[in-house]
Amino acid sequence: MAKKLMRAVAKRSTTATTRMKSTKGTKKQRFVYFFGNGQADGDRTMKDTLGGKGSGLAEMTNAGLPVPPGFTISTQACNLYYEHRGKLTPAIESEIVDNVRKLEKAAGAGLGSKDNPLLVSVRSGAKFSMPGMMDTILNLGLNDVTVEGLKARTQNGRFAFDSYRRFIQMFGSVVLEVPKATFEHEFEAVKHERGAAQDTDLDEAALREVVTRYKKVVQAKTKKAFPQDPHDQLSGARNAVFRSWHNSRAQEYRRIYDIPDSIGTAVNVQMMVFGNTGDRSGTGVGFTRNPATGAKEFFGEFLINAQGEDVVAGIRTPQPIVELERVMPKAYKQLRDITTRLEKHYRDIQDFEFTIQDDRLFMLQTRNGKRTGYAAVVIATDLVKERLITPKEAVLLVDPESLSQLLAPGFDPKEWAKLPVATKGLPASPGAASGHIVFTAEDAVAWSDRNEPVILVRRETVPDDIHGMWVAQGVLTATGGMTSHAAVVGRQMGKPSVVGAGELKIDEHGKTLRIKDQTLNEGDFLSFDGLTGEVKVARVASQPSEILQVVAGKRKAAESPIFARFNQILTWSDKFRRMGVRANADLPDQAELAYGFGARGIGLCRTEHMFFGEGRIPIVQRMILADTETDRRAALNELLPLQREDFYGVFKAMKGEPVTIRTIDPPLHEFLPKREELMVEIAKLEVTGGDAKTIAARKKLLDRVEQLHEFNPMLGHRGVRLGITYPEITEMQTRAIMEAACQLNREGLKVVPEIMIPLVGHVKELRDQKDVVNRVAQQVMTEMKVKIEYLVGTMIEVPRGAITADQIALEAQFFSFGTNDLTQMTFGFSRDDIGKFLRSYQDKKILDKDPFATIDVEGVGAVVRIGVEKGRAARPDIKIGICGEHGGDPSSVHFFESVKLDYVSASPYRIPVARLAAAQAALQVKVGD
Ligand code: PEP
Ligand code: MG
Repeated sequence: MAKKLMRAVAKRSTTATTRMKSTKGTKKQRFVYFFGNGQADGDRTMKDTLGGKGSGLAEMTNAGLPVPPGFTISTQACNLYYEHRGKLTPAIESEIVDNVRKLEKAAGAGLGSKDNPLLVSVRSGAKFSMPGMMDTILNLGLNDVTVEGLKARTQNGRFAFDSYRRFIQMFGSVVLEVPKATFEHEFEAVKHERGAAQDTDLDEAALREVVTRYKKVVQAKTKKAFPQDPHDQLSGARNAVFRSWHNSRAQEYRRIYDIPDSIGTAVNVQMMVFGNTGDRSGTGVGFTRNPATGAKEFFGEFLINAQGEDVVAGIRTPQPIVELERVMPKAYKQLRDITTRLEKHYRDIQDFEFTIQDDRLFMLQTRNGKRTGYAAVVIATDLVKERLITPKEAVLLVDPESLSQLLAPGFDPKEWAKLPVATKGLPASPGAASGHIVFTAEDAVAWSDRNEPVILVRRETVPDDIHGMWVAQGVLTATGGMTSHAAVVGRQMGKPSVVGAGELKIDEHGKTLRIKDQTLNEGDFLSFDGLTGEVKVARVASQPSEILQVVAGKRKAAESPIFARFNQILTWSDKFRRMGVRANADLPDQAELAYGFGARGIGLCRTEHMFFGEGRIPIVQRMILADTETDRRAALNELLPLQREDFYGVFKAMKGEPVTIRTIDPPLHEFLPKREELMVEIAKLEVTGGDAKTIAARKKLLDRVEQLHEFNPMLGHRGVRLGITYPEITEMQTRAIMEAACQLNREGLKVVPEIMIPLVGHVKELRDQKDVVNRVAQQVMTEMKVKIEYLVGTMIEVPRGAITADQIALEAQFFSFGTNDLTQMTFGFSRDDIGKFLRSYQDKKILDKDPFATIDVEGVGAVVRIGVEKGRAARPDIKIGICGEHGGDPSSVHFFESVKLDYVSASPYRIPVARLAAAQAALQVKVGD
């Protein structure tokens, strides 16, 4: 079969085409792509047009796999549907009609035929999978006539009417927008009247009754009869799937995963095969490897006598797939054979869906499987070992965010072991979660807005819960399997999840949860371990991840296989990246951790953070309150040894790698108490007859606070402006840096300090400060009798700085883009206040992403580009980096690669992400790939 796959791939280059010939011989755009009888119009390369599902179906068809025939309506058609206000063009409509005919021929059945009815599924399928977010319709084509035909053909009246009632319910709620609960109410009523405990206890007569009632519901709610013409059904369903691209949960999902709204969804219309015809039928989903742990094992689950939606919806808890070997050994073997080859063909873990109809296996989907961060690292390294992919491909296979998932905390095993297990569920997504119980997504959001950690406890999660899942520490459900919605979405988010914990009795309205004889309420504490599935009633402190323990030297690398794999991915990344990766670290212990994570250099040491150290604030305040330069110098002299010691530690931790130290940046009032607090304190002291000297001192402080008060501190007396007005601060900091560096050089560690002046917008500002730095540096070197190399450079974070970078570069040996301030000043958005309106901007699609998290390539990026080009034109060897928060954001890292910066600098925990992202950026030349 492998050969067959390969032949199919070779063939596809001739079959694949996005154009087709019209009768006149001119080429017109094609919108519908057929697949069936071993041949498809599309292939795996056409995800943009066919979506993930459509391209997978085409590829499998070409490979000769058992795929029910069908056709895919392209994503471009979806966009046209929106452009034409909910209508398709006549040309697309006629292409669909042609393909329905083709499908009828391939299936040997007719849409609406009484004797041999064709039934189809209508499913969404965007380029990026969005599990459960859009709509699906099954069993389309059934009506009062064809249902009898289906009964006659299958000799199974129960099955035919069960399919019909499912169809009316799905079509009714999705297309006709009749509330689902209305149908459920009727269904339960019939069950009750007939004394049926399970759905499956209803016989044909009962299901006929359900169908009659459902049709009445539709008539009452829509004032029209349930549509009987299958062609009308098809266009209604297709339009509903297109519309579901813009439902609120799909929009929310795209916002979280940065999927553009503009790409649209394809619609797949495919001949139905039935997993619910009896005990020789079934349906299931699976993975070629374990998507939670990455282990190489056949993984998945199935339900006998069920339709596909039953598995993913998490309504019934399915059986593990290995059981299939026992019940249907032939189909199982064929499934293993096909999926193993699919994995080899796609060279990645496959996530597949199948249906067995009367012992015959059909493949309904294959795609690269979503996986946890842990699994991503395991799978990528295993695939290299198995020689399926190269190290370069492995680097491209791992999402950089996976690495930060691996750094997530876990429970202290000893603490955890002490607590009794309340219950156990399926370990769907690893990680330790502990928090207050909440029962709805809305409550999850409300509690976490108050900074309270929550566990979202649901009977089953539905796609509408996504916003609650996003903010929760973890998700726990009572029903559903490892591939239910909660499990799939949880894994993808890296959200600890336990599903199918059947002992949970949840009353979502009453907001209570019973586990055996224990009753818990909203707000009570609950913890669980997403790797074992254990749930405990307690609050449990978590502990650093295994990888962090190795990096921090608390665990031996040799004892941690996951560390070895993590490290392997990063070592490969280092080979492929061009940019350096440095850390934003202010203190020696942070620098050490960053070095452990692979940072080679410090891109930003914010010296003012050192001022907040223990016992330092009073000295800093004395410095600020000083009335004369002499008093100020006296306070600075006290700070000098403390700063020198910090710099010494940071240089040492970086083992001679470059260290960029920035002179003081924030406005001075940040080091003083708040005006209002001081006023209250003074008033209290006065009322209670406090000590007169204390009152006078507090009043003096208040005076100074009022003098320093600024209306716009972010645009106020900060950065280089402070150094210009109080040069003695720059002098002290330069002295501390140079003394520490000279000392280390004497001790044999070659250190080249890089002294960086913040917030420069005019070359003369830099010149002023550079003179101070050079003067003091020379003094120190003379005093200490050593000569060392040092650099003086500047941050580029004021737009004027970037625009005049050619002038500034003549004075600066390096630039470091401060993209936090540069974003603030380019947009004019306060970095502290954007939260108040960002959400509205995103809802109204004014901004896709938070520009403080992901660089705004068009605007702020353009300013960076100007700065780089002008800077390099004036000083070709100038070293240029970036030290804003964007340095640890993968898509921003792509942009920095495109302007060929020398390095990115990120916070210590983001270093692994930055190393991998920099490698991917170097390998995929195009921005935003
Ligand atoms: C910046 O502005 O991007 C920067 C790194 O400096 P800070 O965040 O300290 O203002
Ligand atoms: Mg800044």
